[in-house]
Amino acid sequence: MATHQVFNVPAPWAGVNLFEHDRPLAAAVAAAGANPDELRRLGELGRLAGTGEAQDWARLANAHPPVLRSHDRYGHRVDEVEFHPSWHELMRVAVGAGLHAAPWVDPSPTAHLARAAGFYVWGQLEQGHGCPVSMTYAVLPALRHNPELAAGYEPGLTSLSYDFGLRAPAAKSGLLAGMAMTEKQGGSDVRANTTRAVPNADGSYSITGHKWFCSAPMCDLFLVLAQAEEGLSCFLVPRVLPDGSRNAFALQRLKDKLGNRSNASSEVEFDGTVGWLVGAEGRGVRTILEMVAMTRLDCVIGSAAVQRAALTQALHHIGGRAAFGTRLADQPLMQEVTADLAVEVQAAAALFGRLASAVDRGEAPLLRLAVAAAKFWVCKRTPTVVGEALECLGGAGYVEESPLPRYFRESPLNSIWEGSGNVIALDVVRAAAREPEAVQALQDELALTAGADPRLDAAVDQLGKRLAGLGADPDADARSARELAGLLARTLQAGLLVRAASDVPGPGGTAVAEAFLATRLGAGFGSHSGAGLGRAAGGAVLDHCDPNRATG
Ligand SMILES: Cc1cc2nc3c(=O)[nH]c(=O)nc-3n(C[C@H](O)[C@H](O)[C@H](O)COP(=O)(O)OP(=O)(O)OC[C@H]3O[C@@H](n4cnc5c(N)ncnc54)[C@H](O)[C@@H]3O)c2cc1C
Repeated sequence: MATHQVFNVPAPWAGVNLFEHDRPLAAAVAAAGANPDELRRLGELGRLAGTGEAQDWARLANAHPPVLRSHDRYGHRVDEVEFHPSWHELMRVAVGAGLHAAPWVDPSPTAHLARAAGFYVWGQLEQGHGCPVSMTYAVLPALRHNPELAAGYEPGLTSLSYDFGLRAPAAKSGLLAGMAMTEKQGGSDVRANTTRAVPNADGSYSITGHKWFCSAPMCDLFLVLAQAEEGLSCFLVPRVLPDGSRNAFALQRLKDKLGNRSNASSEVEFDGTVGWLVGAEGRGVRTILEMVAMTRLDCVIGSAAVQRAALTQALHHIGGRAAFGTRLADQPLMQEVTADLAVEVQAAAALFGRLASAVDRGEAPLLRLAVAAAKFWVCKRTPTVVGEALECLGGAGYVEESPLPRYFRESPLNSIWEGSGNVIALDVVRAAAREPEAVQALQDELALTAGADPRLDAAVDQLGKRLAGLGADPDADARSARELAGLLARTLQAGLLVRAASDVPGPGGTAVAEAFLATRLGAGFGSHSGAGLGRAAGGAVLDHCDPNRATG
């Protein structure tokens, strides 16, 4: 029938290499000195992420969420979770690419940066499976507080083999890790934890209590916070004990969540559950914060990935659809909106790239302040960016055949876990007020672009005054914590974009930096996209950032 002719819609999106066709990213990773093997592996990951097959894995893993199997048919507790085969495909690729741990055993000086780029590229495909991947990446620095335990588990955690299922750790070719801190009565304030740990004669502890959120419960081991004699302490809790018997780990139910539906998030009860101390008794928060510092970085990368994925879909759509006689991509206001989104995405990518390089270089003081500010800002911007990108597709972006609803449901999550917005902003204030070496590292970083642009100089100056004024009025410091965290993140982003302007030949990098300076640092930074970049600037930004153009 004539009415069934479909026209004025873009071709299905596929065949974009999410690494190689991301010119600024590929250039930044190469400029940082990544070796040919790292670049080759990223290119392969980017190619696979852009295939229709992988897009189907992402869709199916979310359309068929995990199912709890608490008991077997005869009533024995099994406490297992079943996943759709697509989840396992996503996990197999992520682990095979080393996104879960490779940098900890890779001597390359750009190992963490290459892994971050991979997590970004692969994260544009699907976010839920990023949770266990990220937690495994993050667990090693904390686990190394107990060298004996680390020696036993590290080979499995760093293996590139995805080996699903609950079996004795020594019998598995690969292991994954999670964490359980949050309880019903307190998540941000973990000091409110009531779970108790009592020492056993053999050096282990018996843990009893509950955890209100415990994601990816099919992981092999967890870092768990519990109250011991000396106070809140961190324990390694394996799901299967070294002798092959199951540890007590009763899954009460799986959460019915807004998004992140492919990932199982459970409630769990411990009843005499066996655990081993990691770090000193009473130092549990400090120990587990080593893990949280790394998952916070992954929140930044994951949010940047969702922003980028949504932008790519928006740019693809407007390139293949006309309204009022003109292609959407050629309409001045649509160019303004999408170029503005592209600037935001580039700024997020530049920031996580710098932070990952700081991990490679062991720049702990810079990371202390910059990761918290980046986590606040990039995660907080994500629902806005994804919502705008979704709107670029009109009604086609609102229906479930499109990946945009999935991205949108995912978009607030990174701002909630691993330090919710207020908590992380207050952490920025705390670090800035109490850790002078962190402030110094930040100032050294910002000094690299001193004199490059008066707007940037003014922002650095303003930031310096704000930091210097902290401590006089704690109430005022708390009330303005979000403002400070956002200013800090944007100032860092501006400096990084200025420095990256020449990474890619052509005017695009300069246009992105100029657009950011013009729209994100001054007083006029508004809540919506489309800030008036102008024809030339908008065109250059989109030429620079649109991965679809490289395939066209
Ligand atoms: C999908 C999902 C998966 C999760 N998986 C895990 C997991 O695997 N392991 C785990 O341990 N936890 C997990 N969590 C829990 C998550 O880390 C917590 O939800 C988070 O830390 C916030 O804790 P809460 O929910 O108790 O909120 P609360 O701590 O009660 O906070 C509520 C609100 O108050 C704000 N707030 C808190 N303190 C202050 C303050 N001093 N000033 C101003 N505002 C404040 C917070 O920013 C937040 O907006 C998961 C959560 C989600 C949504």
